[in-house]
Amino acid sequence: MSPAPLRLDEAPLRAAHAARARAAAEALQHGAGHAPLALAKTTSNLFRHRERTARQRIDLHALNQVIGIDTAAGWVEAEGLTTYEDLVAFTLPRGVMPAVVPQLKTITVGGAVAGVGIEATSFRHGLVHETMSALEVLLPHGEIVRCTADNEHADLFHGFPNAYGTLGYALAVRLRTRPTRPFVHVQHHRFSDPRAFFDAMARECGNGARTDAPDFVDGVLFGPHEQVLSVGRFVPAAARTSDYTGLDIYHESLRRRADDTLTTAGYLWRWDTDWFWCSRRFGLQHRWLRRLLGARYLKSRTYTRWMRWNARWRATQRLDALLHRHHESVVQDVDIPIAQALVFLDFLRSEIGIWPVWVCPVRGSDPPRFPLYPLPAGLNVNFGFWDVVTVPASRAPNHLNRRVEDAVLRLGGIKSLYSDSFFEREVFDRTYGMAHYARLKARYDPLGRAPHLYDKCVRRA
Ligand SMILES: Cc1cc2nc3c(=O)[nH]c(=O)nc-3n(C[C@H](O)[C@H](O)[C@H](O)COP(=O)(O)OP(=O)(O)OC[C@H]3O[C@@H](n4cnc5c(N)ncnc54)[C@H](O)[C@@H]3O)c2cc1C
Repeated sequence: MSPAPLRLDEAPLRAAHAARARAAAEALQHGAGHAPLALAKTTSNLFRHRERTARQRIDLHALNQVIGIDTAAGWVEAEGLTTYEDLVAFTLPRGVMPAVVPQLKTITVGGAVAGVGIEATSFRHGLVHETMSALEVLLPHGEIVRCTADNEHADLFHGFPNAYGTLGYALAVRLRTRPTRPFVHVQHHRFSDPRAFFDAMARECGNGARTDAPDFVDGVLFGPHEQVLSVGRFVPAAARTSDYTGLDIYHESLRRRADDTLTTAGYLWRWDTDWFWCSRRFGLQHRWLRRLLGARYLKSRTYTRWMRWNARWRATQRLDALLHRHHESVVQDVDIPIAQALVFLDFLRSEIGIWPVWVCPVRGSDPPRFPLYPLPAGLNVNFGFWDVVTVPASRAPNHLNRRVEDAVLRLGGIKSLYSDSFFEREVFDRTYGMAHYARLKARYDPLGRAPHLYDKCVRRA
């Protein structure tokens, strides 16, 4: 039986939210200085390491509550620093989930709309920001505005996604929800020919109108001749479920199982335990080490802390210098129109050579509605590849990342900016809607208190 529709009594929640938002605005106004603005956060899923320079850090941690839900109307509203882990824990017992739930538990609602959040429901719903119906923003000079797609701040509503906090901070976001069932049954279809793999992906994603249409579609490319397409559907009951929060590893299961059933929460967080497969970097494919660490620490939160420690102390760089090794870190998520997916895969195979690669279909609206991240209309494939590649000493710095950028633009795709970027200014301006951004900056951050997007994402200022 589905839970009864729920509509929270919002008045006290909204009053408490308004008080927290006001306090944040006052802190921002009183702290006004010359240093550029930045968020004070204890977790991050950003892969762009910036030098520790003077910044006015604004602490929004108190803004981490759900402030409204109407399960019948299909929306939930949460404060900007609410993590998806908390949001999902709140919504699932009420029989709904946000329409798109990014896979890493510490990603926040604000981070997912200011960056670009994606998941296996994106073939239906698009990126996280496509499911947003209202947004409350703390502007860099301390004013608070509420934006919707058609009010007087519609320009900011559409320009906020992919602005990475450079137009202000999300204090609250209203997101579409969808009904859930307690379990997800996933079928893992194996392929040895990428063309057949992408054809099957397109077929599954085109089935939206059918009653047996999938709820979730994603896949993993384990190598040029081994692909797995995972197609999930909600089910009301399960005889048994798999658990990938401890010794068993989800991505390994794709290569040996034809199908699987997980609790809905287990499915949504299937990639978090091993940070997809990046936990290998810490040896966590070994059962003895997993046992030692325990389920409590097997999660992306742990690995991002270790990574940040490594970046801060330059541990890997020092070791590389000692051993005369040359590495390039290639951590990228790019969206490519599905018609060009084979060409991009061929590029990845011949020039980058990172495996596995996560692939996730994502639908772009027609015409694109969000000027700073103009995802091509129709079905795209997000390719996520994250590793360190050994390179010859003679290689120009960041050669591989630059090649990725060239390939993405050549194929009519777009690259997310959570990681290193090297675009020339003129190319960046053209690609990420900077003419529109300039108008938004002039209206919402006329004093330039927050950094410019190019300075933040490319120059790492
Ligand atoms: C290895 C890896 C894999 C990833 N995989 C996925 C994935 O599968 N699915 C997915 O959806 N995403 C993925 N991401 C990207 C991630 O969603 C984005 O980086 C997102 O912005 C992170 O949100 P966060 O809340 O952790 O924010 P942070 O990492 O803390 O910040 C990210 C940026 O957003 C800004 N920001 C944060 N909060 C706010 C706010 N309230 N208002 C305005 N700006 C804000 C920050 O200033 C910063 O510039 C991945 C990232 C990595 C490193």
